[in-house]
Amino acid sequence: MRGQVALVSGGANGIGRAVVERFLAEGACVGVLDRQPDALHDLRAEWSDRLVVVGGDVRDAAAHEAVLDATSQSFGPVDTYVANAGIHDMWTRLEDIPTDQLPAAFHELFTVDVLGYLLGARRMASALRAARGSMIFTASSSSRYAGGGGALYVAAKHAVVGLVRQLAHELAPDVRVNAIAPGATATGLSGLSDSEVGRGRLDERPGLMDRVAETVPLGFVAEPADHAALYVLLASATEAPFVTGAVLPSDGGLDVRRSGRH
Ligand code: NAD
Repeated sequence: MRGQVALVSGGANGIGRAVVERFLAEGACVGVLDRQPDALHDLRAEWSDRLVVVGGDVRDAAAHEAVLDATSQSFGPVDTYVANAGIHDMWTRLEDIPTDQLPAAFHELFTVDVLGYLLGARRMASALRAARGSMIFTASSSSRYAGGGGALYVAAKHAVVGLVRQLAHELAPDVRVNAIAPGATATGLSGLSDSEVGRGRLDERPGLMDRVAETVPLGFVAEPADHAALYVLLASATEAPFVTGAVLPSDGGLDVRRSGRH
């Protein structure tokens, strides 16, 4: 990725951070938008010449403007945009959300997981058109199947796939737009890591990791870095020049299980 300039939302932790680390290792310059910018202080020290970090909220259009400005001023035109920042609904079933709280719960989840992607894509589209670049959205196994979250999260992640397909159509032929759909991954969001970002310490929920791993045909929960090379692939105009509108699963084989061969 030497010579490439990438922007990653939600790049301070989890999957986004693994993508940032991999992009840097592959030679790219990287800008990050995250509401926890301090979580990247170690990486900032290590890569001060090729990493800029902007603190902000993906629900705020001005934050996307700020990270695009900071990144392009430091490194030149941006050619890769990774929309990744997200939150989870902790598997809350629809019937467990009191009706009067549903609009607020919907607003919270959809403004981060869907509007955040829309605002980022809206702002980056012209920059990426000029660079004939690539947009990559972090979708989920919940973009394809039920059960990876509650009704709000699963609906939001399905919406991300619609967005990828529509933008692949709208931005062709200038910009390739694709998604990675991770399955269970050890991050704060999923509660499958010791991260302080998410749901608390893993040792407070004994057996959780094993129970989740048993549902995965390949038999393990992914580390964030396990998905990172797929983002590098989709960011490459030479390695993936004919790929757009695709949703690439990285989920340990859930299709195998669901088609009854496992
Ligand atoms: P994570 O909690 O480890 O990281 C999410 C990052 O996004 C954090 O750095 C957080 O500060 C940032 N963020 C959250 N809301 C934000 C906001 N409003 N503004 C700015 N930054 C914000 O979670 P993760 O598991 O790495 O999740 C990243 C993406 O991967 C999400 O879109 C999630 O839906 C998706 N995903 C995760 C899993 C999993 O099992 N962990 C599986 C499938 C998909």
